[in-house]
Order: sequence, then C-alpha cells, then structure tokens
Amino acid sequence: MSGDLTELYQQVILDHNKRPRNRGKLPTANRVAHGDNPSCGDQCSVYLRLDGDRIADISFDGSGCAISQASASLMTTQVKGKTAAEVEALYEQFHHIVTTGETPEEISDLAAFAGVHTFPARIKCATLGWHATRNALKGDPTPATTEKHTD
Ligand code: ZN
Repeated sequence: MSGDLTELYQQVILDHNKRPRNRGKLPTANRVAHGDNPSCGDQCSVYLRLDGDRIADISFDGSGCAISQASASLMTTQVKGKTAAEVEALYEQFHHIVTTGETPEEISDLAAFAGVHTFPARIKCATLGWHATRNALKGDPTPATTEKHTD
C-alpha cells in the first residue's frame, strides 16, 4: 500500500474515533447483542432494527480502545440496509483484511484496518462489533466474546 493510501486510511480510523457514527441506544431496536473482548477490555453493544432479513437501522454503544470503537462505528455504516447474507459476506471480507493485510482492489473504508494484521492481539478489537452484530442477526442471546469457549 502506498504511503498516501496508508495516511488516508489512518484518517478514516481517527475520524470514526472523533465522530463515532450511529452511537447510542436505538429506541426502535428489535435485536440487541453484546460483545466483550476481555483481552483488551473492550465492550460493545449493538442495537438492530431488523425488517425481515434486512438491517433497517443499527446503532452501537461501548467503551474500549480506539481500534474497537472506530471499527464498530465503521461497521454500522457498512451494514445498514444490508441483509444478513450481505453482512456475512462483508464480515468475511473484513476478517480477511485484518488477518492478512490484503486489501480489496477497490477503495474500501474497511481496508483502513489492514494494518491491524501486524498486531494479532488487536484483531479481536477490530472484529468485536462485527461479532456482536452477527450474533444479533442470529438472535443468539449469549454475549459475543472474542475468547473461545472451552466447554
Ligand atoms: Zn481493544
């Protein structure tokens, strides 16, 4: 990735930190899920208003490191209006970016997190909001956690 592009992508993360999108509780939500990343201390709740299979509206709330909060903010902007299957495809793309550092051909804000792959512990921070959203879509009431369950 060229230096200019790296800078552009850093701006995306800084901007979402400074001005988080869709932050706060969503009064009309019909699905809620919580995510927890104990290895970093990040918390994230997502509120979805599902219209059939489509996310009509979404918000998030939480606390934690800059990566986790900026990623959750960006995630809300990417999944709004999408179906569960489309969200899953986006998550696959995002997961690939943060685990390999490979970015898609077209400019995508999701690629702002490509640098995360060099800090494996931070991958959990970047994917926390996504895990919570996927759980909310599945209607899974157990909190999403980045730690693998042993039982
Ligand atoms: Zn974190």
